[in-house]
Amino acid sequence: MRLSERAKAIKPSPTLAIDGKAKALKAAGKDIVNFGVGEPDFDTPDNIKEAAIKAIRDGFTKYTPVGGTDELKAAIVEKFKKDNGLSYEKDEIIVSCGAKHSLYNIAEALFGPGDEVIIPAPYWVTYPDQVILNDALPVIAVTEEKDSFKIDPQLLKNKLSGKTKALILNSPSNPTGLAYDRKSLEKIAELAVEHDFYIISDEIYEKLTYDGFGHISIASLSNEIKQRTIVVNGLSKSHAMTGWRVGFAAGPKDIIQAMTNIQSQSTSNPTSITQKAAVEALTGPQDFIPNMVAEFDRRRKYMVERLNKIKGVSCITPIGAFYAFPNVASCYGKKFNGKPINSSLDLSAYLLEQAGVALVPGVAFGDDRYIRLSYATSMENIKKGLDRIKDALSKLE
Ligand SMILES: *Cc1c(COP(=O)(O)O)cnc(C)c1O
Repeated sequence: MRLSERAKAIKPSPTLAIDGKAKALKAAGKDIVNFGVGEPDFDTPDNIKEAAIKAIRDGFTKYTPVGGTDELKAAIVEKFKKDNGLSYEKDEIIVSCGAKHSLYNIAEALFGPGDEVIIPAPYWVTYPDQVILNDALPVIAVTEEKDSFKIDPQLLKNKLSGKTKALILNSPSNPTGLAYDRKSLEKIAELAVEHDFYIISDEIYEKLTYDGFGHISIASLSNEIKQRTIVVNGLSKSHAMTGWRVGFAAGPKDIIQAMTNIQSQSTSNPTSITQKAAVEALTGPQDFIPNMVAEFDRRRKYMVERLNKIKGVSCITPIGAFYAFPNVASCYGKKFNGKPINSSLDLSAYLLEQAGVALVPGVAFGDDRYIRLSYATSMENIKKGLDRIKDALSKLE
């Protein structure tokens, strides 16, 4: 086999080892509580499904314009106006096969050899690999819990160089659940304008926030910052539509055009039927969202409280998304049956094998001190899983 250098540069995700094991154990009949999931455990609302069924019946089953239908782009323009105070023209919008696909198109349109892209850690697993796939260099900036995992302006300055092309921001964040307030965003925006780099703002968890936190898009701070920001969003999380594959991006017209050209030579348009469903998701009733958020909120509070009561675990309270991100570093150096636990990968493997709980080791997100637990699963599972974790950690010596 003679793979490309590019293919060889991509490491298999460390989450796959755990996921593979969890599936094998489940298949062997073992009762596994899965905290590894990265999607809402809610079904797509019926009105959205109906719109897709109608699209099929109406024969809306052909190619559409590559970057999305006019109807959907108009709905997205409205969404940005209403939710974010941002005004875009339709030619500043692209619809892709998921937010991940929009992010990939951005990476292809902007990054190349010699470019550096700053990624605050803990980060979403995909960002560094998308940078590497486009021959650029990810520059990781490890943020700290004491700063609520926000990138401090001084840390950002330290990572800047003449080669800095962009900063990838994710607020609210997967995996930490933290989100940027206006003041922090203003400081980042100032640096972006001063040092002339792009901001790629992944806002996929915008609608999933708690305790009255109001999401702010960095692009809305000024016209200067809007000119160098590409906002990415989608319906996977807000409308429980992960399998439908639709996401979108908004930004300067020339960048969106380049992304559309790239999309025209790779996937072509996102599924026609999904686009009809997306119009309904954006323009139809929205009461599904607060109901889902209220349920996530209940689980969030329960999970964080329970985690903080476990000896050796401390967990900050997330204000967005559906993940808890506890610090478990004080468990490292301990042993079970003589076998040492020295990393998030060791601990995750231990919890899976001994407690039947699947979760994602922090090393996958660039910080080995943590583990990620998703609360996009039933309260019953959450209770059971936390009982098991508590029990298993008490057996470490
Ligand atoms: C889920 C997720 C995405 C991708 O969502 P799509 O299903 O591709 O729309 C993007 N960013 C983050 C941080 C996510 O968690």
